[in-house]
Amino acid sequence: MISNQTPGILKKIYPSLTWEKESSSEIYLTFDDGPHPEITPWVLEQLDAYEAKATFFCVGECLNQFKKIAEETINRGHKLANHTYHHEKGWKTSNDAYGKSVEKCNKVVNEIQKQPNKLFRPPYGRIRRNQILQLRSNFRIIMWSHLALDFKEKLNISKSIRKLKAARPGSIIVFHDNEKSFENLRKMLPECLAHWSSLNYKFAVL
Ligand SMILES: [Zn+2]
Repeated sequence: MISNQTPGILKKIYPSLTWEKESSSEIYLTFDDGPHPEITPWVLEQLDAYEAKATFFCVGECLNQFKKIAEETINRGHKLANHTYHHEKGWKTSNDAYGKSVEKCNKVVNEIQKQPNKLFRPPYGRIRRNQILQLRSNFRIIMWSHLALDFKEKLNISKSIRKLKAARPGSIIVFHDNEKSFENLRKMLPECLAHWSSLNYKFAVL
């Protein structure tokens, strides 16, 4: 069972991963699984309304398919980062294949972003210790402090929003710009942005 807050045990097992950041005023919004031709532009609009900047952990094959949207994302001041090429599950993928997928995705990210990307998030948050060791020298592996759970079909939205509203400066929040999550995302993101903004939080890229 995945809960909104990161279980402490995971943090203990993987202290070398990034779970939150030091900051006195900024929170870090992240969007996984895009770019998507309709959902990502909708997210960009919501973010613009609050002058919020975010980090998009993109799937390499989607980047190749929707390059224009990725470029638009950068033009509006956001950051692209690596989420593998085919959205592989680390636990079910050989270390070699996993490394190659990350490398292939990074090539596309770098081409579009025109600077070397150092941020990686494992799909499903599932990654083996060996894979961490393999990637650690080239990437900062970004996990999260707050998970929107927007991908869940029967999500208790008000409960999830309440937990997200508890985010503080330094928190790293995960949303998804994919089809499965959109129905929940469109209810959650505007309300959360309005709330955090009323507390004077700023939204920065990682
Ligand atoms: Zn993902």
